[in-house]
Amino acid sequence: MPKAQETVLEIDLKALKYNFEHLKSKLKNNTKFLAVVKAFGYGSEACEIATYLQELNADYFAVAYINEGVALRRAGITKPILVLHPQAVNFKTLIANCLEPSLYNAKVFNEFITIASAEKQNDYPIHIKFNTGLNRLGFWENDVDYISSKLRATKAVKVASVFSHLAASEDLNEKEFTLNQIESFKSISEDFIKAIDYKPILHMCNTSGILNYPEAHFDMVRSGIGLYGFGNSAKENQYLKPIATLKTIISQIHLIEKNETVGYNRAFKSNGFLKTATLPVGHADGIGRQYGNGNGFVTVNGQKAYIIGNVCMDMIMINITDIDCKEGDEVIVFDANHTAENLAETANTISYELITAISQRVKRILLK
Ligand SMILES: *Cc1c(COP(=O)(O)O)cnc(C)c1O
Repeated sequence: MPKAQETVLEIDLKALKYNFEHLKSKLKNNTKFLAVVKAFGYGSEACEIATYLQELNADYFAVAYINEGVALRRAGITKPILVLHPQAVNFKTLIANCLEPSLYNAKVFNEFITIASAEKQNDYPIHIKFNTGLNRLGFWENDVDYISSKLRATKAVKVASVFSHLAASEDLNEKEFTLNQIESFKSISEDFIKAIDYKPILHMCNTSGILNYPEAHFDMVRSGIGLYGFGNSAKENQYLKPIATLKTIISQIHLIEKNETVGYNRAFKSNGFLKTATLPVGHADGIGRQYGNGNGFVTVNGQKAYIIGNVCMDMIMINITDIDCKEGDEVIVFDANHTAENLAETANTISYELITAISQRVKRILLK
């Protein structure tokens, strides 16, 4: 791999393929794989990721919002794209781009049918989401009759899938709750299929659901974080490879005397001689202020260097007192060894938040 000369996010497509194949190995042959590429492919590069996964025969894609799906279509993605949280104001754009909406309450369901009918659609694929305990988005079990009667009254739409989302699939202390969600989804989907008289795709599992609840794979699974290399547990992480490496360089080294301070608000006070390095990556790049003041660390020539003082918009300062390094040297913010999950833990958060926060300002480099 080339040494960084500026802040870059390297994305390793070989690792992506490895993760995809590992997750697929957990499925039955006929279980479909939906790849979740929302939020710029969890902060990596959604179009490149989706293009590669389409080559590898992923069956379906999902994004959160309509504009994310439009970007995939412009990049040449032809597989079906589920939009998990579409906003009615953009329904015409959704239809124009052959994106498939998740419909989760009577309001958006009826708004969509109205627009699909006005656009003279026939059997337009929609996805009905049921709430089974997350209490975020979804129809309730007792909405089945309402939905099916509305569906019988229109030719504009057809249900491509029925799905639900697990609240705590990574937490085995919540196993009983999760099993209840699965049972509830089974019973709702059976009633629903009886009521509409055809069988849509059923799906429920996210990455941790795939790994922990094989009995809930149904016809399709939806994986996001696993594709990007994290399995939400030390055990599962062993079998996955983080695809993204955030690298930067040392812009400047300072020798700091006792009682001097470093950075804004003089948040760091030196109690002895200190060597610091300033790096061109800050909170505008996705390294939030919670990583500052000795919480987070990066790796310089294989050694840990803590972030000192407040994180600035465009820079951080790190303590390199005991590290042999010079201006221009490469610095690893996270990679497959010092992972985004490890760094996220230093700020009491999760890999998802750190990787999706890496801003569009950071140059992406694809390793093929
Ligand atoms: C984001 C999302 C997923 C992907 O979850 P991971 O834990 O990243 O695998 C699946 N389903 C829904 C509804 C989501 O919002």
